[in-house]
Amino acid sequence: MLRKNRLFTPGPTPLLPPAQAAMASFSLHHRTADFRTLYMRALADLKQFVGTKNDVLVLASSGTGAMEASVSNLTSPGDKVLVLTAGKFGERWRDLAQAYGCAIELVTVPYGETFRLDEIRKRLTSDVRCVYLQATESSTGARHDVQGIVKLVRANGDNTLLVVDAITGLGTTHFDIDGWGIDLIIGGSQKALMIPPGLAYLAVSERAWQRMESTQSPRYYFDLRKERKAAARGESAFTPATSLIGALSASLDYIRQLGEGDLVTGRGVLIAGAELCAEMTRAAVQALGLKLFSPSCPAAALTAISAPPGIDSGAIVKEFRESFAAVVANGQGEMKGKLFRIAHLGYYDYVDTIGIVAALEHVLAKIGGRPIQYGTGLRAAQEVYACQANRETVPAVV
Ligand SMILES: *Cc1c(COP(=O)(O)O)cnc(C)c1O
Repeated sequence: MLRKNRLFTPGPTPLLPPAQAAMASFSLHHRTADFRTLYMRALADLKQFVGTKNDVLVLASSGTGAMEASVSNLTSPGDKVLVLTAGKFGERWRDLAQAYGCAIELVTVPYGETFRLDEIRKRLTSDVRCVYLQATESSTGARHDVQGIVKLVRANGDNTLLVVDAITGLGTTHFDIDGWGIDLIIGGSQKALMIPPGLAYLAVSERAWQRMESTQSPRYYFDLRKERKAAARGESAFTPATSLIGALSASLDYIRQLGEGDLVTGRGVLIAGAELCAEMTRAAVQALGLKLFSPSCPAAALTAISAPPGIDSGAIVKEFRESFAAVVANGQGEMKGKLFRIAHLGYYDYVDTIGIVAALEHVLAKIGGRPIQYGTGLRAAQEVYACQANRETVPAVV
């Protein structure tokens, strides 16, 4: 049987066909009126997608570029920062803050878990200049309580800024950025936006802009104030990733169509879809006797599944690829070999989810070390789908 190559990785995610077409045919030069119009519109749409009145900027980099910008622009060497870490991406915040000479305080919880609010409250002294966290820790599949944490940070006063890496959180989680008071929130193109890697985007609060007037850390390419000035003219400070901006624009049009003309509604459809795919997957893997890696706080963006005892998750990843050309993700760092990850964010639907669950049954039958009753996982996933009360069919736009 032929096998179609399919990504089930939490970034890059499958590409949206109209975004691919927009990219392939893109030919505008970036210092032209046509491009400025397109860029302005993309930024305005992105603002709606992110859900904020704050400035939204786009950088030509992977998500980590925006993470770096939110350290270099918001801190001075020696500033005390609180880093909340529960996985490889939390550790990236720690490493970045270290690279810029911050005085780092860590709140660390074991992989697969989330933070206790009282522990964060204890560590939030008035001299903490920035708090850094993930909305969803893509290395473990855990979702963190951004709303609970932002409440604590705001109660700590305006001296403390909250920076959220929502690279897999945006498009899978509801945030009230302005209402809660998130100072900087970051997304990446290769996740829920269904386009290739290469763009990072971020929303910056007034408090954060003020902070940048006095911070001393070195920055050049990722100087957000320079980028803000350029964006106001419909330009970027340096050559933008033009064809990706074309793709971004097509992706935001698609999300608007999902919402039957309303982008914010479309974002809700995208989030509900990820949630349903995640719930189907969780039910299936548990019915098959597998354990969730983050059972107490599972994200909608992806599901991390512990490999059965005695089995290397690398063998599972390999079997998915060899038998079905389905690319699922192994664990990162010390989690390599211990878990595998299946994504739900972006361009996934019912058939994709049922397909990967069915493939998982075959993978386990072949290398799982014990007999499989075919249909056990599928049945659980089907029941979740059937029971979903507010399951709405949206127009099949593509
Ligand atoms: C994908 C991802 C990133 C960004 O990684 P890049 O490779 O730089 O795009 C950062 N944080 C989280 C939580 C992610 O999922």
